[in-house]
Amino acid sequence: MVVNEIDEGPGFADLALGPELLKALTGLGYEEPTPIQREAIPPLLEGRDLLGQAATGTGKTAAFALPMLQRLHGAHPLGAEDGGGEPAGLVLVPTRELAVQVSEAMHRYGRDLGARVLPIYGGQPIGRQLRALERGVDVVVATPGRALDHIGRGTLPLKGLRMIVLDEADEMLDMGFADDIEAILQDTPEDRQTVLFSATMPPRIDGIARRHLRQPVRIRIEREAPAAGEAPLIRQSAYIVSRAYKPAALGRVLDVEAPTAAIVFCRTREEVDQLTETMNGRGYRAEALHGGMGQEQRDRVMSRLRSGTADLLVATDVAARGLDIEQLTHVINYDVPSAPESYVHRIGRVGRAGREGVAITLAEPREHRMLKTIERVTRSRITVEKVPTVADLRARRLELTRAALQESLMEDGDLDRFRVVVETLADEFDLVAIALAAVKLAHESTGAAADEEEIPEVAPRAQRPERGPRDDRHGRDDRRGRRGGGAMSRVFVGAGRSAGVRPQDIVGAITGETRVSGREIGAIEIADRFTLVEIPDGAVDEVVSALRRTTIKGKKPIVRRDRDDAPRGRR
Ligand code: AMP
Repeated sequence: MVVNEIDEGPGFADLALGPELLKALTGLGYEEPTPIQREAIPPLLEGRDLLGQAATGTGKTAAFALPMLQRLHGAHPLGAEDGGGEPAGLVLVPTRELAVQVSEAMHRYGRDLGARVLPIYGGQPIGRQLRALERGVDVVVATPGRALDHIGRGTLPLKGLRMIVLDEADEMLDMGFADDIEAILQDTPEDRQTVLFSATMPPRIDGIARRHLRQPVRIRIEREAPAAGEAPLIRQSAYIVSRAYKPAALGRVLDVEAPTAAIVFCRTREEVDQLTETMNGRGYRAEALHGGMGQEQRDRVMSRLRSGTADLLVATDVAARGLDIEQLTHVINYDVPSAPESYVHRIGRVGRAGREGVAITLAEPREHRMLKTIERVTRSRITVEKVPTVADLRARRLELTRAALQESLMEDGDLDRFRVVVETLADEFDLVAIALAAVKLAHESTGAAADEEEIPEVAPRAQRPERGPRDDRHGRDDRRGRRGGGAMSRVFVGAGRSAGVRPQDIVGAITGETRVSGREIGAIEIADRFTLVEIPDGAVDEVVSALRRTTIKGKKPIVRRDRDDAPRGRR
């Protein structure tokens, strides 16, 4: 086993970021920039426009947020009251979920700069947003529909905007926001800096880029694809789990896989420390390894792993660089890595010298696309498997007990001394019953942890077609049967064309108020006086009760499960 000194590649400090931002990143435990950050931050700091192809999980939020905060602060101190409090930065995102997430990230990065960041999205009471806008903000993170609403009311002034980001642009187009985006961009200052991030680059995105970006720098995270054949031959699989169940899923996977030694990769130091603690609490012998540790501490950790006192190493990429651990059988990505080359790097630690290696990735549903990108770039197959159930786990534990007994029967010459026990019991009990009791004791003595928590199955987000449906589409037929092809039901909303209802109002209200994402919504039929919208079966009740609480176009229409819920039937 070799432990090299940590080899620091180009770090955040080399990217000309200011001390306040560097401090925030250290505080968050980010050890080094992800590839997209390395490529996007310098040109953005120079004021260039940028067209980036990147999916969730690549670190794209920080890639635009850090330069945005720095540039805005350079032009006019963030948080200062004298600028009239008009926003200088605008980030447009497709969903409420993302608006909150991006705004929280920007708030964390910009805390020491005093940045005031406000998320605004449909479904949230407008009064609260109005008051916050009045008090003054530096950056608004908004869904296009609600942004346009505010622009119409004169409460979101655009003339002071210096930088605009369109995040997940393809998804915004898919959700029918094309016109809203055009309308917003038309009203912004000509000399603004514009950034567009999209997971795919269909022609419509190119069109927007041509119209609204000035000689943009283009970046794709897949560019540094490893050469064919470079990726090692390793059994690769992935589990789709929601964040809350990740520790449980990791435990389950470890129990079923029973690795000799495993390394679990996390993104940040905080995550490493937290996960190490959680896994130790769950009875695993885990050790943390990250860039914040000294060489001596690292050596100690490695010797515990080597001697078998620990069987799980939880590490960041930087800390694990240069590690060569002979007995390693499993690499586990606790998150999807930020770039394909990082994935290749990580999994290359197993499967050496002809030994069998296993690479397992825990992905959140929204990271499924990144998984696909990695598959394509590495030209290898990552099988998405079901998280083992409690029943699977029990079966596996029994299998381990059976194997241990079999080994004892075949190899142990010292069984005879127990004969007296069996024979005296045999006077009273059936031989099979005696054997069963003995197996039970043996099984329980392995200390198999009682992990009875069932981990809910979540479907990956479906792949989006490269070309979205027409902008004016009322039939979103291509999105039927999402959630892994599950059944769809229709919801009746008592407001339609005559009330000015547009597909994006319905999508905005649903994604804003429920956990249903835009992609899971099926066909939307807008008639004169009502609208029918297809929703995954399991989410209908949630959608109905959420829509009843919200207003659509200023009204509270009747909302119910469609009585005539025959598939695709016209009313
Ligand atoms: P995103 O692709 O922007 O959704 O980011 C994915 C995740 O990676 C988020 O949880 C970020 O906090 C995290 N992240 C972003 N940049 C870094 C970095 N340089 N080091 C570690 N984690 C990061």
